[in-house]
Amino acid sequence: MSKLLEIKDLYFSFDTFQGEVEAIRGINFEVNKGEVVALVGESGSGKSVTSQAIIGLNPMPPGRYKQGSINFDNKDLTSISEKEFQKIRGAEVSMIFQDPMTSLNPTMKIGTQITESLIKHQGMSKSEAKQRAIEMLGLVGIPNPDKLIYSYPHQFSGGMRQRVMIAIALACNPKLLIADEPTTALDVTIQAQIIELMKGLQDKLHTSIILITHDLGVVANIAQRVVIMYAGKIVEQGTLNEIFYESRHPYTWGLLESVPRLDSKEHGRLASIPGTPPQLIDPPKGCPFAERCEFAMKACIEEFPEETTLSSSHKVSCWLEDPAAPTVERPVQSGG
Ligand code: SF4
Ligand code: MG
Repeated sequence: MSKLLEIKDLYFSFDTFQGEVEAIRGINFEVNKGEVVALVGESGSGKSVTSQAIIGLNPMPPGRYKQGSINFDNKDLTSISEKEFQKIRGAEVSMIFQDPMTSLNPTMKIGTQITESLIKHQGMSKSEAKQRAIEMLGLVGIPNPDKLIYSYPHQFSGGMRQRVMIAIALACNPKLLIADEPTTALDVTIQAQIIELMKGLQDKLHTSIILITHDLGVVANIAQRVVIMYAGKIVEQGTLNEIFYESRHPYTWGLLESVPRLDSKEHGRLASIPGTPPQLIDPPKGCPFAERCEFAMKACIEEFPEETTLSSSHKVSCWLEDPAAPTVERPVQSGG
């Protein structure tokens, strides 16, 4: 498989009045052409900042690349101008967000919202763009798209609005789609439908996808690889099977425990990991998970564990991999 995106030793910070927030601290991962990679972690883990760094949208206070590279289709996105970003955004890399209402323009007909970028990025004529908009809305399961292109966002339900967002995001046939918690605001059955839809479109269009979520359950049906982030670092990454059945990081175990299981009597009640992630204004020098980890040892507090390569796809950063560490039983995972 050939690489579409390669992030190497990336550091990204925000300058605030309180000081520098080190939101991303040396991450490495890649996305191959046609692949779905899930970026999973709690809020504040750096997953959304990673996506904003890729797409060049840096929220206030001003963010900045400190070190490393983001190679996308032979361009280093950390060093291109805003003007070049504008050409890439929407055309080669598209993004969908948690709440489509904030990214759709409430005063503009949805048809126009799709045709705008087609005219701008693809140089289509108005009528070509309209045809394409109808086609895209049909593709994402909007009924009577030739009539509904004249509707406004508020006339749609949350699930339908997310479908419209997906249509907009895919209209220009981007190489990479970044979906940041695309189903979090929706109820469970609609969530499943949206994931099904994305999977179906991905099979058809072969768009690479980065799916950002705090919920490992969401990724099981769609991702080929999973990257687990914690406190601005990647603590484990692997194929879906490696993460669900052979994971070696206590934080991943905690996330797996939080996935609701259909066979569980406790269904609906999620086990969550007690505690909160550290503040990244003054990140701990050791393993950032140490405060919440039941296996934490002295070394964990003193130094960040180096990455151990377990297979060509499976990597983990945990002191338990050290030959001198005690052996621990990983909890049996019945979900997944
Ligand atoms: Fe727990 Fe230590 Fe591994 Fe961090 S390095 S996850 S504290 S065992
Ligand atoms: Mg987020």
